[in-house]
Amino acid sequence: MQFTKLRLVGFKSFVESTELSIAPGMTGVVGPNGCGKSNLVEALRWVMGETSPKNMRGGEMDDVIFAGSATRPARNQAEVQVTLDNAGRDGPPDYAEHPELAITRKITREHGSDYRINGGPVRAKDVQLLFADMATGARSTAIVSQGRVGALIGAKPQERRLLLEEAAGITGLHSRRHEAELR
Ligand code: ATP
Ligand code: MG
Repeated sequence: MQFTKLRLVGFKSFVESTELSIAPGMTGVVGPNGCGKSNLVEALRWVMGETSPKNMRGGEMDDVIFAGSATRPARNQAEVQVTLDNAGRDGPPDYAEHPELAITRKITREHGSDYRINGGPVRAKDVQLLFADMATGARSTAIVSQGRVGALIGAKPQERRLLLEEAAGITGLHSRRHEAELR
């Protein structure tokens, strides 16, 4: 599935509503140090259901909210929305009638995150599974952050197996089996 749009409001340095269109093919993000390139990648990871503040270079999840600057007050909410093209109907069966899927995550200070797909509230797990089935996702090999290359090379056999399973696109199935076993 093609990612077509990314919208950020109050997320890290993106205090004003910012929308980027993502065209098919390769996209490069260029700009001076500190302009927010890594923040964009983190926004993608976050909207896909990342739960570890450490992976967002923060101490707590609230740290993704715009913290204020010399000229602007801090915000109390951050929201990221990613839009996927579902014209090929390759998304979740529940959304087969939807030509586009807009996945939104919003965090409010001290209240945590909520998630929506095309406006309807869903669980974090639903969003995580949607991306796991697409073999992308917050922890997937589809996103390789600075410093992770070394970690991949030095991975233990068990960790390497997880990576191979993820690349083979069966992580979503595992996650569902685990959920079923817990019931
Ligand atoms: P480099 O080229 O050095 O990798 P970059 O373009 O990847 O830089 P980022 O790391 O994405 O830059 O952005 C860092 C900027 O984001 C810093 O100026 C930092 O102050 C700002 N920033 C991070 N979190 C927040 C926040 N919660 N509120 C406001 N600004 C933030
Ligand atoms: Mg960077």
